[in-house]
Amino acid sequence: MKTIQQNLAKYLSVEKLLNSLFEHFNYCFTQCIEIEIIKNDGQPVSACCKDKYYKKYDLEHPVFELLKGERERLYGTPDEHHFDNPVSPCEYHNPKTGCILPTHKSPICLAFMCQESIEYLRKHYNIFEYDYLGVNYALEWILTDDFSEKDYVDFEKSITSMIQKIIAKNI
Ligand code: SF4
Ligand code: SF4
Repeated sequence: MKTIQQNLAKYLSVEKLLNSLFEHFNYCFTQCIEIEIIKNDGQPVSACCKDKYYKKYDLEHPVFELLKGERERLYGTPDEHHFDNPVSPCEYHNPKTGCILPTHKSPICLAFMCQESIEYLRKHYNIFEYDYLGVNYALEWILTDDFSEKDYVDFEKSITSMIQKIIAKNI
C-alpha cells in the first residue's frame, strides 16, 4: 500500500507524459479552437470546457483532496480567478489562452479527447489505442492505488509508444 503522496507523484508523472503526447499531437488549437474562433468572428470560444470539470467527476477520496489542494496552492482557488468576458463556466478557463492549469488537472480534464480528435489520431497517425474513458479510469486508479505496478508500466509504455509514432510521422 503506497501513500497518497506517492500515488499523486505517479499521477503527475503520467500527466507529464500525456502533456507531451498532446503537445506532439498539436491538434486542439490548430484543428479546432483556431477554426472555431474564426467562425465566431474572432471572439473566444470554450471548445469542450463547458463545465467545471476540474471537480465534476472527482471521487470522494483523500488523494483527490490532495490533488485539489496542490492545484490550488500552485495555481490559486477557482474563486481567485476572474476573466473579462468569460466563455466557460470553469473559472480556470482563460478566454484568450484556454486552460490555465499546466499540471494538476483532474483526471477527466487530463484524459479527455473528443471523437473528432480521436478519429484524427486514428486516421493520420494510425494510433488506435487512445480510449479517453479508459485513460480517465487508469488515471483515477493510479490516484486511488487500484492500478498494479505492471499496469502502470504498461500504461506509461503505451503513451510513450503513441508519442514516438507521432514524432516518426511528423519527421
Ligand atoms: S478535445 Fe476536441 S473539442 Fe476539445 S479542444 Fe480538442 S479538438 Fe476541440
Ligand atoms: S480545468 Fe481546464 S481543462 Fe478542466 S474544464 Fe476547466 S479549463 Fe477545461
